[in-house]
Amino acid sequence: AKEAGRNQTVRFDPSMRVELERAVQLENDLRRAIEHEELYMELQPQFDRGLKLVGAECLLRWRHPRFGNISPYEFIPLAEKSQLIDSLGDWVLEQACRLLAGWQNGTGFAELYLSVNVSVKQLESPHYVSNVARTLGQHTLSPEYLQLELTENVFATDMPATVARMHELRSLGLRLSLDDFGTGFSSLTYIKHLPFDELKVDRSFVNDLENDEMNRRMVNFMVQLGHELGMCVVAEGVETSRQRELLLEMGCDALQGYLMDKPMGIDDFTARYLDT
Ligand code: C2E
Ligand code: CA
Ligand code: CA
Ligand code: CA
Repeated sequence: AKEAGRNQTVRFDPSMRVELERAVQLENDLRRAIEHEELYMELQPQFDRGLKLVGAECLLRWRHPRFGNISPYEFIPLAEKSQLIDSLGDWVLEQACRLLAGWQNGTGFAELYLSVNVSVKQLESPHYVSNVARTLGQHTLSPEYLQLELTENVFATDMPATVARMHELRSLGLRLSLDDFGTGFSSLTYIKHLPFDELKVDRSFVNDLENDEMNRRMVNFMVQLGHELGMCVVAEGVETSRQRELLLEMGCDALQGYLMDKPMGIDDFTARYLDT
């Protein structure tokens, strides 16, 4: 089999066929996942330097009737490929706005941020900004507590159009976060033109921070760059207390990761953090 790999494509690898069949199946099922109420959200808390709760990130979940829980690492790319990402993204935003409105209008106003992941594919749709504006308009909420997380893929888009669209989003009053920073295509030429309020250091840099001198230098640089550009810097994937200590020493403004808490259902989040 080793010999075969060199000059010709391996066409009949059965594991590849199984993978492909699964992808096709999932893509079909995803179309109906919203109406069948198979999607739900989990929240992962974020903490400030004093380890006080300041907000949460919304993470999408899919409970497939036959396959069980499917990771967003698997179904988000399928959704992006098939344009289903637009309706999925609208659904997530709607849920997030409803939740935020509930927090803000409930008794004992919780001043918490809510972050929503947005695919660059969504941003590229000409209807995106007006969709967001409409959804915001349907809820009574202060939009400055809503944050949209975009990955560095934004730097691989038609930049003038993207820059304009991002300014439109910000003028709706919400905040923008640059997710997975350091892993993609960030360009120092463009980063100063994009109106990001927050920079999220990718967890691949946080991972092994205690042993990896190079990662430590990289994170140090990212924190300084973010602050220099007026952004709030958040570290994700914090798993050990040593990592937390180093990140705070470097000046990170907020922390997210298993060390503090894992993503959890909304009811658990409410019980643990909001019920007094
Ligand atoms: P992300 O935006 O980087 O989200 C953080 C991921 O890291 C989440 O994985 C979270 O569960 C995980 N995580 C949090 N703390 C730790 C930690 O301490 N250690 C480790 N090893 N992992 C940690 P999850 O929930 O599986 O989501 C995976 C990715 O799927 C997300 O990465 C995001 O890119 C995407 N995603 C999730 N929900 C949505 C959504 O609603 N829309 C879009 N477009 N993408 C989404
Ligand atoms: Ca994220
Ligand atoms: Ca991230
Ligand atoms: Ca990531």
